[in-house]
Amino acid sequence: MRLPWRAVPPPVRTVSSVPAGRLNFVPACSTADGASLELLRDFVSRARRLFVITGAGFSTESGIPDYRSEGVGLYARTDRRPMQHAEFTRCAKSRQRYWARNFVGWPQFSSHQPNRGHAALRRWEDGGRLHWLLTQNVDGLHSKAGQKRLTELHGCSHRVTCLGCGDVTAREDLQRRFVSLNPEWTAQAGAVAPDGDIFLEDEQVLNFRVPPCERCGGILKPNVTFFGDTVDRATVRFVHNRLAESDSVLVLGSSLQVYSGYRFLLAASDRKMPVAILNIGPTRADHLAELKVSGRCGEVLAALQPL
Ligand SMILES: [Zn+2]
Repeated sequence: MRLPWRAVPPPVRTVSSVPAGRLNFVPACSTADGASLELLRDFVSRARRLFVITGAGFSTESGIPDYRSEGVGLYARTDRRPMQHAEFTRCAKSRQRYWARNFVGWPQFSSHQPNRGHAALRRWEDGGRLHWLLTQNVDGLHSKAGQKRLTELHGCSHRVTCLGCGDVTAREDLQRRFVSLNPEWTAQAGAVAPDGDIFLEDEQVLNFRVPPCERCGGILKPNVTFFGDTVDRATVRFVHNRLAESDSVLVLGSSLQVYSGYRFLLAASDRKMPVAILNIGPTRADHLAELKVSGRCGEVLAALQPL
């Protein structure tokens, strides 16, 4: 459904970027200008049932690096790539390496806190403006901020699932099991990846002990969708239904390069819903948006208050 106030979408608006570099994991970008802020404020204030999609760029202001941002994302800073689903399920050594790194990175990764952007979306929910929030992030920060009308499309790293019986447990509980199983085990901390992964030498990993599921002895996996895996069909259907109930779409901090998120922009386009994007750098859905603003999500959303 297209909202009545604008019959024809105007051309996509963009704001040029200049280096700033105050926060380590936030790509260089100028502060969004006043005119862009007003257009975005106008877009959000007209929405009655806003559907919001957040991505890795939304968490960088909480100190979590993303994968793709130019210059600062993990793809730019290292030659590491995220764990592939097939490798995790097929290879015990890969799982041992993954969990050893995850064990070391967990205390820091789990300590990250929601930023101003998360707080703003919580206020939009409380005020009845936000109909549904879809996040591609697995850091649990929207939940920490108290968001209720939320789908974590790719799961959440604060939970663990058993590939055998499907039992879901708290990641924090697994950390305690790791500690008791590996009393002598120490490792050097390195750079923490968005999924809590970390750098370790091969020899450090060899002696790390990974416990099985306590119920069935099966393989434990973070309750997140690894690269190469697909999002559960029921979840996709559920999100499409929430999108259909909404009146406009706002993308925050995502380049939408992954199809599992991009498909909802295609659906929004089919429904002729107005789309706005706030992101540093280009996105896959720029051609579908009537408004594109470049800026840091937390900073911009805080500047939009009160709506
Ligand atoms: Zn099990």
